[in-house]
Amino acid sequence: MRRKLAAGNWKMNGTSAALAELNTLASIHPTPDVDILICPPAPLLSRAADATAQSQITIGGQDCHAAVSGAHTGDTSADMLLDAGATAVILGHSERREDHDERNEDVRAKARTAMNAGLVTVICLGESLAQRVAANTLDIIAGQMSGSIPDQATGENLVIAYEPIWAIGTGMVPTLEQIAEVHDFIRVRLERRFGEGVGRSVRLLYGGSVKPSNAAEIFAVPNVDGALVGGASLKAADFSPIITALE
Ligand code: PEP
Repeated sequence: MRRKLAAGNWKMNGTSAALAELNTLASIHPTPDVDILICPPAPLLSRAADATAQSQITIGGQDCHAAVSGAHTGDTSADMLLDAGATAVILGHSERREDHDERNEDVRAKARTAMNAGLVTVICLGESLAQRVAANTLDIIAGQMSGSIPDQATGENLVIAYEPIWAIGTGMVPTLEQIAEVHDFIRVRLERRFGEGVGRSVRLLYGGSVKPSNAAEIFAVPNVDGALVGGASLKAADFSPIITALE
């Protein structure tokens, strides 16, 4: 039985004032029936971890370097994330793939390092609108899966987020049938590559314009084990109903 996961990606939003949202979220959900993960910007990580220490909210990074340490100005290592109190890291988000030219092999190298360090990796996959229109979605997802997911993946160290690029921050959402098709496809490929046990235990999140108004119907889709939420994770008032819809 896969435990549901509500994950929030704050992206490059929030300063210390935003930490109050974590206190509010923790007070609304003292004993959640689902896992809650918030990924704030790197400078807020340790304070976010302190703010949630007495709660069941966990904290994650939004990226890490593939190297364990060294001369990489401006980057953050997996060990640094752990040291700051993070237990997870988002990798291969489409904004990183686009802004920083991250390719599948880069994501895979980062994931290997993060898994070796003991972090849960949330690896993002998703097609562009042009790829969807050209009916290439499943080919793109297959390539991203084989290129980005390391062989050491398990149900404990891997979460996959299916995030169609055209749905991120746009208010556009695939149909429930389209979400089901991709999530079923990912599940089958995971089972084929890693065996049924691991393949069935990896959690599959949907991401892209998830809101309180559409969360319940998305969560009812088979093989959707939760969501990776951007904009609607910034305020406890928006994220809380999404958590409730998942419970
Ligand atoms: C995201 O960036 O991971 C995301 C899903 O953003 P939004 O929920 O704002 O579409």
